[in-house]
Amino acid sequence: MADYRGKIVEPNLVWINDKFEAGIKLKISQNGIIEEISREISGDVVELPQFALIPGFINAHSHAFHRNLRGQSGIGCQESDTFWKWRDAMYKLVENISYDNFKQLCKGTFEEMINAGITTVGEFHYVHHENDRFNLDNAVIEAAQEAGIRLVLIETLYSRSGFNAETVNKEQKRFESKIDEFIKHLKILEKSTNSTTTLAVAAHSTRAVDTEGIQTLWRYASENNKSFHIHLEEQPKEIEDCINSFHRLRPSELLLDKMYPVTSKLTVVHCTYTLREHLNVFAKKDVNICICPLTEGFLGDGIPDLNDTDHLCLGTDCNNRINFLEEMRWLTYCQNMKHNRRNCCKLDATKLLQIATFNGAKSLGLEGAVGKFEVGQQFDYVAFDLESKRLKDFKAPNMLLDAVIFGAGNEEIAAVGVAGIERKQK
Ligand SMILES: [Zn+2]
Repeated sequence: MADYRGKIVEPNLVWINDKFEAGIKLKISQNGIIEEISREISGDVVELPQFALIPGFINAHSHAFHRNLRGQSGIGCQESDTFWKWRDAMYKLVENISYDNFKQLCKGTFEEMINAGITTVGEFHYVHHENDRFNLDNAVIEAAQEAGIRLVLIETLYSRSGFNAETVNKEQKRFESKIDEFIKHLKILEKSTNSTTTLAVAAHSTRAVDTEGIQTLWRYASENNKSFHIHLEEQPKEIEDCINSFHRLRPSELLLDKMYPVTSKLTVVHCTYTLREHLNVFAKKDVNICICPLTEGFLGDGIPDLNDTDHLCLGTDCNNRINFLEEMRWLTYCQNMKHNRRNCCKLDATKLLQIATFNGAKSLGLEGAVGKFEVGQQFDYVAFDLESKRLKDFKAPNMLLDAVIFGAGNEEIAAVGVAGIERKQK
């Protein structure tokens, strides 16, 4: 496999400053960082005439093991007509899981992500315990390292089965931990981090973690400069249950009330049924909103009411279909269909790419490290094949990105690299 560390590369086209440019060379350091970008770099050059290079896609929300439910969607059947019935099938999947089994599930998913141009994954990980406490966390880390994907392990707290519950149900036993034990474990996990494996934290949802747990974890995240993620208002039932609990508030109101001050370190995932007035508050506070269009369609969640002030990023969530170009275009298509227009949220190809790269990096606490071709950033890339049947007639620099985002698939991805090392498998 190609290894561009310590080399100078010159692809046919490179995505720099929101446009494709020809004649650009990138000098890559021995540890995979972009050292120089210029038309004039002397030395031996590796020419890549068939490649149009864009920064690697950043997947801000994944549950890698969910992919194993592929082939059992139940779509169209009465027995699995709601999100909650699909969730029961997912619980069955983890009932008898082993370390090796879990690692293989994650590795298969991560390899598929690499082949889809995803170079960084934010793994929202809540299946922690096999026989030992938290031993499955290591299975995720090993799987990512073996697949060669950059991992942000979003270590997820899950403490109860519902708003009025004290603890979890028996099928949630592998997820369960108390806040004190969880924070103690975060400090141990910190020792497993390196240049391609970093740590963020999550509360699974306002349903699965009480407000005290959310507050304590938010404080920990703020003090330790960690990103904080949470599922929010994906289903109407979650909102009804929260209002009917002693809180008498919607989950968004609960967060805005308890996570003071809310900052850009927060990512709220889904927001399918979040009121526009609360989305406006998130927009003002630079909170990241992670949308997972293929999953939301697959699970029958719904379509959020977005506008162009929202700070959006994307996730593959249940991983039934791993195709980040589809996530991008369906982010637009859902809004187009909802509003009967073609200019919703200013979601053109350039903005969609920014959402799929730079915005994902911001959500995962990796801004400055990945998401752009800039000096000092990691050389994480996706190369599109300019001679492929779908793209060869549309490779003019002013047409190509639009052709890629709205017309291409994983088949047109010729190469994918992380920190200068090619990782795509044939
Ligand atoms: Zn999720």
